[in-house]
Amino acid sequence: MATNSFLAGNGSQMVSLESIRLFPCPVCPKLFPSRFNLLEHTRTHTGEKPFKCDVCEYRSAKKGNLTRHMLVMDNSIR
Ligand SMILES: [Zn+2]
Ligand SMILES: [Zn+2]
Repeated sequence: MATNSFLAGNGSQMVSLESIRLFPCPVCPKLFPSRFNLLEHTRTHTGEKPFKCDVCEYRSAKKGNLTRHMLVMDNSIR
């Protein structure tokens, strides 16, 4: 009977993953929601630490870590 129309629906119920673009790390199996996040992460593999503390020798691959470090420094100075 209507076997053809049954087959025509093949795959239509799949969640379209293409709308959620994830950026895979070339080194480890992690996935990232944005290119920036991936870039930031890949530095943990390369060892590149562009965010440096002005006060001490602290260096970080992530801006968030440096920001947190600065806050800790502020508290310890006070
Ligand atoms: Zn990685
Ligand atoms: Zn510091």
